[in-house]
Amino acid sequence: MKVTEHIKKARGKTQFTFEILPPVKGYHINSIFDNIDPLMDFNPPFIDVTYHREEYVYNELENGLLQKKVVRKRPGTVGICAAIQNKYGIDAIPHILCGGFNKEVTENLLIDLDFLGIKNVVALRGDAMKSETYFKANKDGHSYASDLVNQISDLNNGKYLEQLEVSTKTDFCIGVAGYPEKHMEAPSLESDIHFLKKKIKLGADYIITQMFFDNSKFFEFVDICRAEGINVPIIPGLKPISTKKQLNLLPHRFHCDLPEALIKEVIKCKDNDQVKEVGIKWCVDQSKELMKFGVPFLHYYSMGRADSIKKIASRVF
Ligand code: FAD
Repeated sequence: MKVTEHIKKARGKTQFTFEILPPVKGYHINSIFDNIDPLMDFNPPFIDVTYHREEYVYNELENGLLQKKVVRKRPGTVGICAAIQNKYGIDAIPHILCGGFNKEVTENLLIDLDFLGIKNVVALRGDAMKSETYFKANKDGHSYASDLVNQISDLNNGKYLEQLEVSTKTDFCIGVAGYPEKHMEAPSLESDIHFLKKKIKLGADYIITQMFFDNSKFFEFVDICRAEGINVPIIPGLKPISTKKQLNLLPHRFHCDLPEALIKEVIKCKDNDQVKEVGIKWCVDQSKELMKFGVPFLHYYSMGRADSIKKIASRVF
């Protein structure tokens, strides 16, 4: 079922959803199921599966030269989605990227997803490769998520890259990313929301946000979006802080501010077990306030670990 249909069906009730990432290459699919099983008690209507593009690694050769290799450390997004739909009978939502794809490979991926009965996709640009400062599109690939949304919308209208004898329409519900604290490259929140609006105009059906730790940032973001005429559902993304290191890592990696009160609580902790408890309490409080606000889903970034998310969900749902 489409995300938008899940919202209609719930009639205003906030639902629990989460995101997982594929395991590092070599792990068994059971490593994914082990982290999904404990969360199934909370009836998620769907699970998101992230996509991880290729990276460059450099191996030192005997002669001292470096050999550049392209590797994908976490393959398997599409296979995991199929496995989730098969095992749990719920919707699995693959994230798909501009980075690393050209338009034809994207079209063929979308055809595979359609054949697998996948009804939703999250369309993203992707980050720059680790060795590069700025994002570079592939030759004949997309530079922005809006271009990818456009390609998916075209396919939903039966418009393939080439004229075909038979042009079956797909019917994907399209999610896109939104940033309550603006995307790191955007010169201003206003400019970022301008381009977010473009993604909606081109056919995106809902927005899912970057993690944030201060609900007021989300509420302001929703207000600005609505004032700009963006009327699609906006789903908050939440992550409980779980280690002291994340005080530096999360703002750096995800460009989100941590509230002073949360920082003080984490600094006081003697070890990461205590940090986990602080993170869980903070996330429960955030979740309850967002639920009162009437969000359609509380979407948790599980980062492949179910323990904290289970504790949060059992206090919220
Ligand atoms: P875009 O919407 O294309 O925006 C990128 C930047 O360009 C923004 O600053 C925007 O303001 C600007 N911009 C957009 N259009 C234009 C234009 N026409 N001209 C000039 N500027 C423009 N990454 C992964 O690799 N895999 C994942 O699975 C993944 N999942 C994610 C899920 C969520 C919910 C979120 C919030 C992020 C996720 N990311 C993932 C990270 C994402 O790929 C990065 O944040 C990336 O840098 C931006 O992607 P986007 O889709 O928001 O890009």
